[in-house]
Amino acid sequence: MGSYVRTGALTSSSKPLKHDQELRPSICCLCNGGCGIKISLDQDGKIKAVFGDPENPYNKGKICPKPMEISQTLYGPYRVRYPMKKVNGTFERISWDEALDLIAQKYNHYLKENGSGSIVGITSKVGGSYSKLAHSIFSSLTGLVNYGTGPICTDSEVNVRKKLFGDGSGTSPLSDVLNSKLLLIVGNNAAQTKAGQFHWITEAKRSGTRIVVIDTRFTETAQAADLFIQIRPGTDAALGMALLNYVIKNNLYDPTFVSEHTNGFGRLAQDVSSFTTERAAEVTGVPQNVIERLAEDLATLRPGMLFEGRGVVCVNNAGASIWAFESLMAILGNIGKPGSGIISHINNTGGISNLIQTKDVMKPDRKRSSSTLYKDMLEGDVKMLLISGNPCVTWPDSARMRTAVKGLDFVVSHTLVLDDSAVLADIVLPATHWLEEAGAQASVHRVLQWKNKVVDTLGEEKSGGDFYRLLAERMGLPSSYFPDSPEAAWELERKYNKNVAGISRERMLATPGGIHFPCSEVGKETVRLFPSGTFKTSTGKVELSGVSDAPLDYVDTTEAPGNMGVSREKYPYIFSTNKVASHYHTECQYSDWANEMEKPYVEIHPLTALEIGVGEGDQVRVETVAGSVILPAKITLSVPRGFLSTQPYFGLQSPYGQVPANTLFPVAADPIGGNLVSKNIMCNAKAEGGQES
Ligand code: SF4
Repeated sequence: MGSYVRTGALTSSSKPLKHDQELRPSICCLCNGGCGIKISLDQDGKIKAVFGDPENPYNKGKICPKPMEISQTLYGPYRVRYPMKKVNGTFERISWDEALDLIAQKYNHYLKENGSGSIVGITSKVGGSYSKLAHSIFSSLTGLVNYGTGPICTDSEVNVRKKLFGDGSGTSPLSDVLNSKLLLIVGNNAAQTKAGQFHWITEAKRSGTRIVVIDTRFTETAQAADLFIQIRPGTDAALGMALLNYVIKNNLYDPTFVSEHTNGFGRLAQDVSSFTTERAAEVTGVPQNVIERLAEDLATLRPGMLFEGRGVVCVNNAGASIWAFESLMAILGNIGKPGSGIISHINNTGGISNLIQTKDVMKPDRKRSSSTLYKDMLEGDVKMLLISGNPCVTWPDSARMRTAVKGLDFVVSHTLVLDDSAVLADIVLPATHWLEEAGAQASVHRVLQWKNKVVDTLGEEKSGGDFYRLLAERMGLPSSYFPDSPEAAWELERKYNKNVAGISRERMLATPGGIHFPCSEVGKETVRLFPSGTFKTSTGKVELSGVSDAPLDYVDTTEAPGNMGVSREKYPYIFSTNKVASHYHTECQYSDWANEMEKPYVEIHPLTALEIGVGEGDQVRVETVAGSVILPAKITLSVPRGFLSTQPYFGLQSPYGQVPANTLFPVAADPIGGNLVSKNIMCNAKAEGGQES
C-alpha cells in the first residue's frame, strides 16, 4: 500500500495537496497498527487530506485506505452532532443536560431496584486512553460489566495465552520480524488487515526471512509468501498438533528451554502422540510431506515468529489451535529472544490499580458470559444498556441481538453515526472521533505513541472521558476520581499503572515511533516480553498443559459448537467472513468513497457456483441455522470448493443497506478460549435470481 491522498469533498475540482503545506501529525487508531499519519486542513479547519507519515519509523509513510475515508466520516451526513431522545419512534433533539439527567435518573433507578447486573455495557469503541480510563473508573464505581471487543475478536487468544505464558499480549513487536528466520502466519490476512504495516513482512522476506502462510483462502498475504499452505477450514489445530508431535518425536525441540522454562511437556507430548503427520494430512488436506517439511523448517530456521489472525481466533475450535501453535513456539525456544515470539495486535498495557478507594468500589452483583448475555437481555434480567460500538452488526446472531436490544427498557448509544445499534436506542449521544480526542495509542509493535487531537468538533460531540465524568457527577458518584483531560488522564494512568509509569506524554512526543512497554521507569523499555525466560504464570514457567483440564485435542469444526447436530445434507458448505482493507469498521462504511471502492460480495469457487447455478454477480442466498443473507457472487479460485466467504461488518443502516453477515452465526463459543464464533459455520447456498444492481 502506498501513501494515499483523499480529499473530503470528492468533487472533480478537488486538487491534490501540496506537500509544502503544514501537516498535522497524529496516529491512526483504526486497527492497532499504530501508523503515523499527517493531516492537512482546509481554510475552515476541517480535514482535507490524510497522508502516511514518512517520519514514523513503523509505517514509513505507508497507510491503508481506511484513514483516508475520515473526512467523509467526520463531515458526512451520517454523523451524529447533538444528543437525541426517541419520542414516539422518532428522534428529537435534546440538550446534553437533559440527556445526562435522564440517563442518571434511569441508571440510579435500575441500580436500586434491579442491581448492578441489570445494567450492561457493550463498548467496543469507547474512545482513546482518556475515555477508556474514565470508563474504567465509572465501571468500578457502579459495578458495570462491559463487553468490549473481547467476545467477538480476542477472547480465545488472550485467554489461552494468559494460561500458557501468564500474559495475553503478543510477546514481540512486528518489527522484530527482521531478526527472524521464519515467520509463520496462520489465518491472518495482514496484507489487508494491517496494510500500513505489511511492509515489515515483505521487507523481512527480501532480507531472507522465510514467510509461510497457512490459510483456507489464497489471500493477498499468501500471495506475498514463500510458501502458502492451503488448509481445510477449521482444521488448524490438527496441523498444529501434528507439528508438535513430529517436533517432539524427532527431538527437534529446544531441550534446555523445555527443561528450564516449561511445565507439562510430558502431558503435551502424550496429548499429541496420536496425531501423526499422516493423520493430519487426511484431516487438513495438507500433504504429509509438506507438514513434515514445515516441521523441519521450524526446527532449523530459528529464531522464528508466529502471527495468528482472526481466522484461527474467531472459530469454534480456536482454543486448541492457539494452544498447539503457541506451545510449538515455546518448545522450539522461540520466546524472549530477538526475532522470536508471538506477534499480535493485542497490546494490553495493563489496568490501573488502587486508584479507587475500597469503600467506593461497587462489585458487579452477577456474572454472565457473552453467550448468556443474549438470553438475559431477552428475558428481562438486563434492563439498561450502554453502547459504544455497533453490536447489532458485529456480534453473531445479529438479528437476535437487534431483537434483544429493541426489547430492553432503556438503551443509550454514544456514537459517531446512526448505525444499526444507535437507531434502536432511547438516547443517542454524539461521540468525538479519535482525531477529535488526544491520547496514548498502543500498537502491534508493542509501543505507545501519543496521538494528537487534530481538529475540533463541529457540533456538540463529547468524548467518553467527558461523558462518564459528567454522568458520574449527575449520579452523585465521587467524581473527583475522574480526570478532566487526556493529558490529566495519562498522568493518572502512569501513577496507577506501573507498566506505563516511565512513559510520559513528552517522552512519547519526543520519540518517533513511541516507547516500548512495559516501561516502569524512564529509560527502561521492554522491547519483547520474557527476555529472561521468567513467565508471568504462578510458576514462572510456560504451562504447556495448563490451558485446560482436558487434554489438547482436535475437534472437527463440523462437530464443534455452532455446527454440532447440524445436518450436512441440508447445510453442505462452510461459510466464513474475512476483512478487507478499505472498510472493516462501522465508521469507515459511512462513507460514499467506501461504497465506491468495494461493495459486499460472497466469494465462491467456480465449481460451487456451478453446483448452485450462479454466475459472476448473480444473487446468492446463503442460509445457516441462524438466518440467511443475500449477496452477489464473486467467483474466485482464492477459496476452496464448498467454502464461501464475505465481509463481516456491513449493516442495514449503512449506505450499503446490507443484512449483516453475522446474522448467519448462531451464538456459540469456543469452549476453551471463549470467543464467540464468527467463522466456519455450516451453510447452504442457492441462486436467488437477479443480478446485483
Ligand atoms: S494499517 Fe491500521 S493503523 Fe495503519 S493506516 Fe490502516 S487502519 Fe490505520
